[in-house]
Amino acid sequence: MEMIVRFMKDGIVRGGSYSVENGIISGGELLKPEEVFLLPPCQPTKIVCVGLNYVKHAQELKMPLPEEPILFLKPPSAILAPSGQIIYPSSSQQLDYEGELAVVIGKRCKNIQAEEAEKYILGYTCFNDVTARDLQRIDVQWTRAKSFDTFAPFGPWIAKIDPSDADIETRVNGNVVQKSNTSDLIFNVPQLVQFISGVMTLEPGDVIATGTPPGVGQLQKGDALEVEIEGIGVLKNTVV
Ligand code: MG
Repeated sequence: MEMIVRFMKDGIVRGGSYSVENGIISGGELLKPEEVFLLPPCQPTKIVCVGLNYVKHAQELKMPLPEEPILFLKPPSAILAPSGQIIYPSSSQQLDYEGELAVVIGKRCKNIQAEEAEKYILGYTCFNDVTARDLQRIDVQWTRAKSFDTFAPFGPWIAKIDPSDADIETRVNGNVVQKSNTSDLIFNVPQLVQFISGVMTLEPGDVIATGTPPGVGQLQKGDALEVEIEGIGVLKNTVV
């Protein structure tokens, strides 16, 4: 499969379109996984997140379906490399995972209609909307709960997939905790690009995290976390 990858090898940052099969990256040369340090596959100016966007997650929370997407931001300082370590903040007692499909913007855009959204999308990747749930409950605004350093792991690379029908699964220490399909999204990807670009200019590399399916739960220090999306791959992080 052809993927957009960013990585470091021998101290040099490289990136571009590479063939990836079973975790082995090749593009003119074969790159062994142990020789390559994967970097976040793009460098967003902002990460736009969507709250409550799966029908079954809304039902699980016994909340009515939202009439418009609920948006919040994560700062670029929260970005974590694929395989990086999520830091459990000392000010929180409840750290949660949220496995999500992320959209990566390819071209600067503003006021885009849903029908033309695809032209502005570079591809898709796996995202973990790590959340200090106890702090989210205390605060009216979610900025603190969502914005600690390392709370925005994404990757391992960017793939071109059909975002309307992709299986998504989150595993903690190998146990499946979230299992859904993006066909259950309340607001689909083109609708989100229309809505968000109607608010703010989207830049190349900007990331939209599309919301989490049911099964959200807690993390402990030492946990190994995986978010897998059909056609993309697996984002793996640990909690320290
Ligand atoms: Mg989320």
